[in-house]
Amino acid sequence: MTEKIKSIRGMPTLLPAELKLWQSVESTVKKILSNYAFQEIRTPLLERTELFQRTIGEQTDVVSKEMYSFLDRKEQSLSLRPEATAGVVRAGIEHGLFHNQTQKFWSMGPMYRYERPQKGRYRQFHQVNMEAFGYEGPGIDAELILLTSRIWRKLGVEDIQLELNSLGTAESRKGYRTILVEYFNDHTDSLDEDSILRLEKNPMRILDSKNPEMADVIHSAPKMNDHLDQESEDHFNGLLEYLDGHRIQYVLNPRLVRGLDYYTKTVFEWTTDKLGAQATVCGGGRYDDLVKQLGGKDVFAIGCAIGFERLVELVELSGKKDQNGHPKIYLVAVGDQAEAKSSELAEMIRDQFEDCVLELNQDGGSFKQQFKRADRAESDIALILGDEEIENDTIGIKLMKEGGDQETISQDKLLESIADKIGA
Ligand code: ATP
Ligand code: MG
Repeated sequence: MTEKIKSIRGMPTLLPAELKLWQSVESTVKKILSNYAFQEIRTPLLERTELFQRTIGEQTDVVSKEMYSFLDRKEQSLSLRPEATAGVVRAGIEHGLFHNQTQKFWSMGPMYRYERPQKGRYRQFHQVNMEAFGYEGPGIDAELILLTSRIWRKLGVEDIQLELNSLGTAESRKGYRTILVEYFNDHTDSLDEDSILRLEKNPMRILDSKNPEMADVIHSAPKMNDHLDQESEDHFNGLLEYLDGHRIQYVLNPRLVRGLDYYTKTVFEWTTDKLGAQATVCGGGRYDDLVKQLGGKDVFAIGCAIGFERLVELVELSGKKDQNGHPKIYLVAVGDQAEAKSSELAEMIRDQFEDCVLELNQDGGSFKQQFKRADRAESDIALILGDEEIENDTIGIKLMKEGGDQETISQDKLLESIADKIGA
């Protein structure tokens, strides 16, 4: 027997049945993004490995353990993107999009990380990303939080909370770094191997450790908030004022450092206790130094990413199903003449009702068989053509869901009657 080829571990295929809800969530999210004046950008799935090393940081889990990197035919190291920001910044610099202007971009698509697959954690997963460039004040930080909060509200997602922190400017972090290294040096017994390595190169990364045995030593570590410079403190207080004004609730979490190196000042995460261990639905923050660091100008920037699998799961748990389902019509036709006519009518209906799903029966079958297919396709309406209808220029129209009323009408009245039944 020929062996079947299986998919790659952690890279699930999204099947039509689950994509219905995905598409409905996608369309809600896109509408809100456009409502806040964000424009779509699409960057390649593959970039030079160096791009991610220089942005996300070599000491992060994402770059040191989770990247899919390989040499291409010219021996150049490429990586599948583990996140979107690096590519968007690269594109912005390359195309001069940051010159004396503000920009708001969104993008949506698959990301790749070599992690241990489990519920809510995959090797190919999807994100919606938003990034805003050229805005200095905390107003844009607030806007991103309001935008994401509107997405939850619109999708009926509850039980989601906002966690906030400020990492300060790169400058102010230097002082804090020294204090933190001193503290961890006094507690090396409680650190794991990874953390000892990080102590030299990137001590703040230790605060991001998920190792439960280190929870205590991390909990008692000195906090960035107590060492913020004036500028960062003012910015953060400005953001809190906006949020208070909009009655957005938040929890201040001094241990929130995020998993990527490029953040400055504001960082935030939306978390939930509904998804078990995979609690973070959305994460982001400012990265005011990144554009310059990649060879561009000094450009203020902030962004965040929503994990799409986790969002869809939350929407499903909230009980809201497919929110913009389209009416479905199934055209039953028995007999050669009926089949020929049905194809003609199907095109006419598709012309008139672009939002409908019209399925034309193919490959014959008895009335009974065709009705069974109409049922399985979860049709709202069945249209019926047989020899008798052809002879009289009529057509049967049957409501499949509400009691199954069936009537026979003249073919001239078909469009009118469909409009009436689907409320178009
Ligand atoms: P986590 O702590 O769960 O690993 P992260 O901090 O690595 O998340 P980010 O890089 O901030 O994640 O990505 C933003 C969002 O993308 C996360 O909040 C999460 O919802 C989603 N996400 C990240 N990694 C995965 C994955 N492997 N599978 C599914 N969703 C993911
Ligand atoms: Mg991660």
